[in-house]
Amino acid sequence: PNRAPFRPRQSLGQNFLHDPNMVEKIVGTLEAEPGDPVVEIGAGTGALTGALADRFERFVAVEIDERAVAVLREDIPEADVRQQDVRDADWEELAASFGAKLHVISNTPYHLSTEILFALLENRRHIAEGVLTMQKEVVQRIAADPGTKEYGVLSVLTQLFAAPRYAFSVSRHVFRPQPDVTSAVLHVRFGPEHEPDDLDLDDVRPYVRAAFNQRRKMLRNSLRAWSKDQGIAFPNGWGRKRPEALSPADFADLAGHFNERADAVEDRLHE
Ligand code: SAM
Repeated sequence: PNRAPFRPRQSLGQNFLHDPNMVEKIVGTLEAEPGDPVVEIGAGTGALTGALADRFERFVAVEIDERAVAVLREDIPEADVRQQDVRDADWEELAASFGAKLHVISNTPYHLSTEILFALLENRRHIAEGVLTMQKEVVQRIAADPGTKEYGVLSVLTQLFAAPRYAFSVSRHVFRPQPDVTSAVLHVRFGPEHEPDDLDLDDVRPYVRAAFNQRRKMLRNSLRAWSKDQGIAFPNGWGRKRPEALSPADFADLAGHFNERADAVEDRLHE
């Protein structure tokens, strides 16, 4: 009975959840109120979808695989199921159609987990929260503290522009077919109170990327494209630090400082 009525495609990351207790636990992680709009990404054969459609009046399920869409429409006719590649989703339009910020939930296809997280971060003005089941190591990286080996680009950017939390781990045995890895649920809250006032993702991302691309190097070397080439001095002696020593807020300060100086250099060139 718990078997998919079609052959799961590994290329689509199809691992279907079959444990009712885990369904409850994951759906229960949403902080959404019954009237809030909820969007499920990758609904598959509906493990979470039935519970979500029961609980939330305003509910949309997105799924790319037409075979799964057919199953969903048959089994859960009350759900608004859209056959779509989530990478093409227009989050702004969807939120506008509800007149409210979206609550997003997904047992993510593993190959798209971080892409989905970044899509939510980019669209955070239209999204209230995310409940994302991902590979456990990825959730650990997102929630990691400075100074740990898991700390990196995902930690800095997610912690700077949202409030992520490692919720709980999910055994691979609750999925069919079983994936090779253990999963975990990420809870992430979005909102102006969880991000800097005067910086956007793209103001910070280049520095964080460059720094962690060479994580064993001191920042004055990994960020030489700005510091040496443009003659911008590091604040707080950070040039001699490695990236794991800087908190997300430190990276925001560094980016603010560098961007300001880089603008000044630009202005001088154009005088
Ligand atoms: N929610 C179901 C469950 O928990 O059993 C399925 C989870 S499965 C890990 C991931 C689902 O995402 C699959 O149903 C897959 O077809 C779907 N999917 C994969 N790529 C997608 C994409 N680009 N856009 C939308 N859905 C996608």
